[in-house]
Amino acid sequence: MKALVYHGPGIKSWDDVPDPKLIDATDAIVRVDTTTICGTDLHILKGDVPTVSEGRILGHEGVGTILEVGTSVRNHTVGDRVIISCISSCGVCTYCRSGNFSHCLADEGSSGIGWILGHLIDGTQAELVRIPFADNSLYQLPNQVSDDAALLLSDILPTGFEIGVQYGRVKPGDTVAVVGAGPVGLAVIATAGLYGAAQVIAIDLDQNRLDLAKQVGATHCISSGAGDWKEQVFSLTDGYGVDVAVEAVGIPATFDMCIQLVRPGGNVANVGVHGKSVQLDLQDLWIKNINISMGLVNTTTLGMLLKLVAQQKLPVDQFVTHRMALDDVVAAYETFGNAAQTHALKVLLSR
Ligand code: NAD
Ligand code: ZN
Repeated sequence: MKALVYHGPGIKSWDDVPDPKLIDATDAIVRVDTTTICGTDLHILKGDVPTVSEGRILGHEGVGTILEVGTSVRNHTVGDRVIISCISSCGVCTYCRSGNFSHCLADEGSSGIGWILGHLIDGTQAELVRIPFADNSLYQLPNQVSDDAALLLSDILPTGFEIGVQYGRVKPGDTVAVVGAGPVGLAVIATAGLYGAAQVIAIDLDQNRLDLAKQVGATHCISSGAGDWKEQVFSLTDGYGVDVAVEAVGIPATFDMCIQLVRPGGNVANVGVHGKSVQLDLQDLWIKNINISMGLVNTTTLGMLLKLVAQQKLPVDQFVTHRMALDDVVAAYETFGNAAQTHALKVLLSR
């Protein structure tokens, strides 16, 4: 088969590789019908994720059709259309049973991390992929849900909802500020209304991203390039600050923006993946009763979000900006990597 192979920092190619085979009785082999590229893949290519070894097939998002199942797979069968969760989890270990799929103890790399696809084992930017723990890691796709919409459920919608909205403890009437309106920040914006957010303020440097934020549910958009972003947010909250500030970029400056925007007693939900340490001014924060949360997505809400997508209750259509053929994946990385020029958000790759 063909697959997008990582050959070390800065080097990738669309190569001929051996077809994946069933290894464990809990595995499935899935034909990838649609996949996409994530910001994390760009981090890997920069060499920021040293746990990815040379020769690894990238990708952790996908929708496909099952070609083969191991003897102990019970929930799925050959021919089923499925969503591939970015988290592979056994469903029965201590952490899985407490809802922490992202720390599944049965993971193959023995890392204690559920994100193994396109990281510790071969991923979804390929014609075929082997999915471990298929029962718990694949989700049946109803006919009325398109591949385009389903693909957002592999990673970004659960990430925005679980780590932004749920960890941020959004409740009815809240004002939520989301710093960073990339795919993940937009997923926070699109799902904040599920818990009754009254105002959702999108903050980004890129006007195109702010326009998209409005389309998926932001009530207000503010450019962080403007010197008065903080005043603008405070004027929307009677001068108090926001109830929930969500960091969806992954740099110290935007974490600090969230700390500046939250009101006393509010929540800062950090979703961004940080490459370097962030200053935490506990000496000032403790007396403001701020709750700070963070985490790796579990995808435990994937099934629930799928029901909402199936009933057209989430604005998923705006996320897909580009469509290309799977074997154009190298060009797709160029398009996705130059989002400021191409206005790419999610680049869909289909067989
Ligand atoms: P992205 O790079 O596509 O989007 C980031 C957005 O932030 C862009 O729109 C950019 O214009 C904006 N931005 C940059 N600097 C800014 C600033 N100073 N002020 C305001 N906006 C600014 O990233 P993404 O794919 O949306 O992912 C967002 C973050 O979430 C990344 O760090 C990613 O690694 C992380 N992530 C976390 C999880 C998790 O489980 N916690 C899962 C997936 C992704
Ligand atoms: Zn487990």
